Amino acid sequence: MPSNMWDIPKFDTLEEERIYRKQHLVAGCRLFGEFGFDEGIAGHISARDPIKTDHFWVNPYGVHFSDVTVESLVLVNTQGEVVEGIHNVNRAAFVIHSAIHQLRPEIVAAAHSHSMYGKAFSSLGVFLDPISQDSCAFYKDHAIYTEYNGVALNEEEGKQIAFALGENKACILQNHGLLTVGKTVDEALWWFISLERACKAQMLADSCGKPLRIPNDIAELTYTQVGSSQAGWFNFQPMYKWIAKKYPDMF
Ligand SMILES: [Zn+2]
Repeated sequence: MPSNMWDIPKFDTLEEERIYRKQHLVAGCRLFGEFGFDEGIAGHISARDPIKTDHFWVNPYGVHFSDVTVESLVLVNTQGEVVEGIHNVNRAAFVIHSAIHQLRPEIVAAAHSHSMYGKAFSSLGVFLDPISQDSCAFYKDHAIYTEYNGVALNEEEGKQIAFALGENKACILQNHGLLTVGKTVDEALWWFISLERACKAQMLADSCGKPLRIPNDIAELTYTQVGSSQAGWFNFQPMYKWIAKKYPDMF
């Protein structure tokens, strides 16, 4: 466990790390429920299993984010089969997350939902501008997947999305929603929440006038201050503590 609150925890065993990842994934689900990021059966958060590293844990199909528990998570293999858990996996969740976990071996987690501001912003087909300190976390570190071919049900679509994401921390899926990744579950979740808010801020500002951009050199500097994996992980910690205290039943 962490020696101080600034450290991403290290674990003595992979079993401990598995529990940590699952608990933080569930905390993310509860937060997505809290923030209204649900849209029926859409939306998924995945965490690579630290033991079977080509498998990932994901929230169960057809269960509201607010009802997800550690017990209800499912472990999915490379064929899209549930190998642990009593629930099914959303086909689109397998298609999208499987491709990302394969293409980005350093990535531990990915998050996607049809959250309101991300969905609305995605229809514009534009990048996020550096108009606030927070939006600089995504400066030159997000992509747009410009294709929309219906619900992502075939594996080729998943590969195209993963390819569009590239080395970035986030991808705006045009006419669809947001997708973020991280080297920790916490990081992927923070980027999702932060990106949703950045989309909202940009649309609010655009609707009122012409927002002033932070100059490129300052945006680049700010990115190094707020856009690292460590910063993403650390920013999530207050939310994790808050939601864990609010819903102790999720563990
Ligand atoms: Zn979707």
